[in-house]
This record gives sequence, structure tokens and C-alpha cells, in this order.
Amino acid sequence: MTRTQLVFSVLGIIALALFPMAVGNPYYIHLLETIMIYAIVLFGLDIVVGYTGQVSLGHAGLFGIGSYTAGVLVFQLGAPMWVTLPAAVAVTAVFGLLLALPALRVTGPYLAMVTLAFGTIIQILINEMTFLTEGPLGIKVAKPALFGHVLDEEQYFWFVGVVLVFAALFVHRILRSHYGRAFEALRGSPIASDCMGVSVYRYKVYAFVISAGITGLAGSLYAYSEQYISPNTYNFELTVLFLLAVIMGGRKSRIGSMLGATIIVMLPKLLDDIEIFRTAALMFSVMLVVGAAFMVQRGKTTWKNSAIPLVSGVALAAISYTLTTMADWRLSIFGLITLFVVYYLQDGIVGFVRSTLNIEGHARTEAEESRDKVGSVKALEHASDKTSEDLIVATKILMQFGGLKALNEVDLTVKRGTIHGLIGPNGSGKSTMMNVLTGIYLPTAGTITFNRDSVVGRTPSDIALSGIARTFQNVQLFGEMTALQNILVGLHHSFNSNLVDVAFQSGRYQKERDSLTARGHALLKLVGLSDLAGEEARNLPYGKQRALEIARALALSPQLLLLDEPAAGLTAPDIKELVATIKKIRSEGITVILIEHHMDVVMSICDTVTVLDFGQKIAEGLPAEVQANPKVVEAYLGGEVTSLAA
Ligand code: ADP
Ligand code: MG
Repeated sequence: MTRTQLVFSVLGIIALALFPMAVGNPYYIHLLETIMIYAIVLFGLDIVVGYTGQVSLGHAGLFGIGSYTAGVLVFQLGAPMWVTLPAAVAVTAVFGLLLALPALRVTGPYLAMVTLAFGTIIQILINEMTFLTEGPLGIKVAKPALFGHVLDEEQYFWFVGVVLVFAALFVHRILRSHYGRAFEALRGSPIASDCMGVSVYRYKVYAFVISAGITGLAGSLYAYSEQYISPNTYNFELTVLFLLAVIMGGRKSRIGSMLGATIIVMLPKLLDDIEIFRTAALMFSVMLVVGAAFMVQRGKTTWKNSAIPLVSGVALAAISYTLTTMADWRLSIFGLITLFVVYYLQDGIVGFVRSTLNIEGHARTEAEESRDKVGSVKALEHASDKTSEDLIVATKILMQFGGLKALNEVDLTVKRGTIHGLIGPNGSGKSTMMNVLTGIYLPTAGTITFNRDSVVGRTPSDIALSGIARTFQNVQLFGEMTALQNILVGLHHSFNSNLVDVAFQSGRYQKERDSLTARGHALLKLVGLSDLAGEEARNLPYGKQRALEIARALALSPQLLLLDEPAAGLTAPDIKELVATIKKIRSEGITVILIEHHMDVVMSICDTVTVLDFGQKIAEGLPAEVQANPKVVEAYLGGEVTSLAA
């Protein structure tokens, strides 16, 4: 946390603590209490939506499960709060596991549909299970007691405030740890996550379970806050509202969640009263004009580009003075605001403010924190000296896509400690071979052993963890994450701390984090990216992105590194650097399979070269032999004769 963040947090907490005394009106105390409870829900929802990039329309259902777990325990058994709250977390987390199952199979709109169905089913179940839930009648929940003392309005408000602070801290720590990076990696590139040993399957489940647990906690707080719960609260509208709040406030931000919660609680109140709405619309349009002027002056936008939001904002204020009642217009105005946000504020309010004021996320500070500690940390772990031993052996690999045999009974043996070139015209099956070796594709037939263990049928993340790392023909970085964070995802396998370590920032976790961050910096240095540690991967120049991808693969401490056209699109000096890097990698005993079109590169550094054409192996041997082979020249004819001659 930076100094400013700390100061603001402390001030915020003090303001929150003083609020009941300052206001005194129970209505407003309850309103802010609801905002805090919703904010906790959004902390949880943000994990799934903001970080892993999955849609969930099931969170109102989860919220309901939390409420009803607490409600039923109080109503049926008179259970105390120290039982009901943990029970709500646990029960909802189990349902989160159920909600994760569809996310493992489908994404995007399909996932939205399935999670929506989940939410609806929960609502129906609550309605129907009358013996537990009293059905549509709802449940009255007695005021909560703590250590035998019944909490009054103010005291419960403080209690919720304390839970909010701890929930924020917990979520924040998790998301800044290797868990958070794994969640974010899923969003950036699922295939690269898997190939870095971060199982997409496992971390999607984790994200949903943690998210659900937090939502359940909020649900139980809500039950005590309302002192009456009924099934129709947890409906479609609420679930859409939650999703909207995350997007409006700004995803991947705790402040964004709190802002979003404030908006969704306050907006309906605003739309209820014409007087308040007029004032708000007027203030809003003034803010719009001032904001636009500020941005135009800073060169962030032009008056022309901001015309539509400006005109509509001012028009909204003007129209509000011609309306006599809000009742007929509520939904339309709400819809308009939603459209506005989705169109103009895709990164939410927090994202908008950050980009306007050029405030970086927390990534940069983290990158700089441990910069000095790099010292003599070694980037590469020496793999092995045992040469002339077969590291990976693929026999009779057949890979069929429908009628097409992308690989037709190909044998490939790679000796430990060598650089093995894999060449051939476009579409000859090189990338397919790489995908088969790393478990992305399951071969139709054939066997593969790595260190004498069979590879076929194992998951990509399992294969990656056994020591095979790779890069991709079309770069697969985690775009929104910094260069350093990309590397740290590669180092994920070296983190042994669990959720408890992370939540309490245990000594073990801190030590591990610092030493691995230092190792990350060493890896960045190895590929010449030291100065760009805090830069988001998507903003790096293409050549640097390729270099980063190699460094990330090396973070896995692999025995075998697969490079798929690493020189494609690189400038001549970049290629020179790349060749030097590959040689350095081999000198550490790491075996390399290199797919490459630049013949000069292949001929100068490869120990052995295999040539594919139409899915078949047509030649294999020393670079010079292969180059002189008539079959190879033939295969390349018309396409890349020139580069072959080079
Ligand atoms: P290379 O990397 O040598 O240029 P690829 O291995 O990418 O070639 O592709 C070999 C052949 O397999 C091509 O004809 C390609 O269209 C086909 N192919 C690759 N992946 C798939 C897939 N997932 N589905 C269908 N066809 C594929
Ligand atoms: Mg390819």
C-alpha cells in the first residue's frame, strides 16, 4: 500500500466510525450499512468478474444462500452470530463450487445464461422449501448478539464496518498474491496460464469458491441488518445490479466496489424523488462540463468527442425540470444511465479517474519495491549436465483434424542439452507438434515420453510442471499485467504459501514473495527488460513482448523449452539478442526445440534439425546436411527458397 492509500484508508475508517454519531438518523445509518454490505458482495464478485473475467449472474442467489443460512439457523435453532456467520460463509462457498462447474465448460454469454439459471433455481428453492425457509412468508431474524450482548443499531453498524474493513483487507491481500495473479492470468490468456503450470481448471474453481464465501458473509450480515428476509429480494434485478455496480465502480479495485455499492443503493432513492433528482442531474451536468473541460485541456479528448455525453447530461438536467413526477420515468432513466456507463466508462469510474490523472495501479510500486534486492540472484537454475541422453521421445505421432492429418506418424527424438530445430513450410505441422508435446492437443495416436515418463493424456499444466515450458507463435502474454507480474505467474509453482499465509502475510509468505520477486527481476534482466518491469505487457513493443514470453517460460525452471517462431516479426538487432539469449539458455543445460523460419538463425545455433512437410518428416540431421537435402529444397520451392539459401 502506498502512503496516500494508507492515509485515505485511515481517514475513511475514522469517518465511517463517526458516521452514526454525526448523523444520528437511523434511516441513514441503515442506508450506509446496506452500502457496506453490498460493497462486501462486490469485493467477492469482482474476483470473478474483474480478475478472472468470467460473467456471473448467480451472485444474488449466493447472497440469498448466505442470508438464509444465517436466517434459518437463527429462526430454527436460535444460533448465535459466531455460528451463523462462519456457517453462511461455508455453505455459500459450497454452492460457489457448484456455480464454478459451468464456468469450467462454457464462457461468455453461455456462462451468463447458466449462472442466471443457477440464481433463479436458488430463488425457487428458497420459495419451495417451506419447512426450512417459511417460503414466501419470509423469516424474521432476531437482532444479533455478541458475547451475550444484543447489538443496537449503531453497534451493529460498527460491526458491519469492521467486517467490511477486514473483508477488504483479506480480498486485497489475496488478489495481490500469487492467487490473484493466477486469477488475472486466466483472463489474460487461459492457454498460457495452463502452459505456465497454473491450472485454469483449479483457479477458476478457487475464484468462484472464495467469491461465493465472501458473498455469503455479506448475505448473513444483510439478514441481521434487515431483520426480515424473503425470497423475492434475491431476484434477477439484484443480480444485474451487482454486475452493473462492479462495472460502474471500476473492476479490479476495492474503491471501485465501494463506489459501485454506493451508486446502486443511492440511485433508486435518487430516482424516487423529483426534487432530489433535479438537483443531482444539475450537479452531474456541471461535473460533466468541468470534467470535459479538464480533459480537453490535458489533451485527453476533444470537445467534439465529448459532445454526446455532454449534451445528454445537460439535456437530462433540463428535462428533469419539465417532469412533474418520476414514477413513469424511473426505468427509462435508469436504463439510459446504464447504457451511458457501459459505453463511455468501460473501466468504471475508478478506471476513468486513473487514466485521466495518469495514476498507475499498484503494480509499479511492487515492481520497484524489490528492485534493489536483485543483487546476485540467479535467473536460471542449471538444468542438467547429462548430455547425449534422450530427453523427449515422440513416436508415430498422428494428429488428425477431421480428414486432415496435420501430423502423420512423425517420430521425434530430442537429446538433452541440445538445440533442436524444427522447420518446414507453413502448415506443415510444426505448431501442431508443439501443441501435442505440451498437452494442448491429444494426439490421435502415438506415444510421447519425457524423462521416460509418458506425457500423452496429461493436462497442459501438469506437463508444464514436469519441466516443459513454451512460447507461442502468436504471443500469449497476460496483457493487463505488468512485465514483472507476467514473470511471477511463471514462478507460480515456486510459491508454497496457502491462503492463510497470504491473509496474515506470514513470515514464510513474505520471504518467499521477496526472493521470488528478486528472481523475477533477474529473469527480466536476462532478456534485457529490467527497465520495463512495471509496464503493462500489452504496452510493450512487439520485440519486447517476445522477449518477455521467453523469460516467463524460463521462470518455470524448465528442462525443455519450446520456442515457436521466436524471431518472427523481430528487427535484425532484436534477432541478434535473441540468438545470444538462446545460447545462454543452452549453456545452462536447458534443452531447446526451436521452430523458426529464419534459416540463418536455425543453421547457426541448432545441433540437429528436423524438417516437416505436409505433416510428415522428410529429413533430419545436422543443419548442413539438411540444408543440402534435395527433398528439403523441393519442399521449400516457391515459398522460401531465398531464405533457405541465405
Ligand atoms: P505450422 O506451424 O507448421 O505452420 P500448423 O501446425 O499450425 O502448421 O498446422 C498444420 C495443419 O494443421 C494446417 O493445415 C492447419 O490448418 C491444421 N490445424 C492446426 N490446428 C488445427 C485445429 N485446431 N483444427 C483444425 N486444423 C488445424
Ligand atoms: Mg506454426
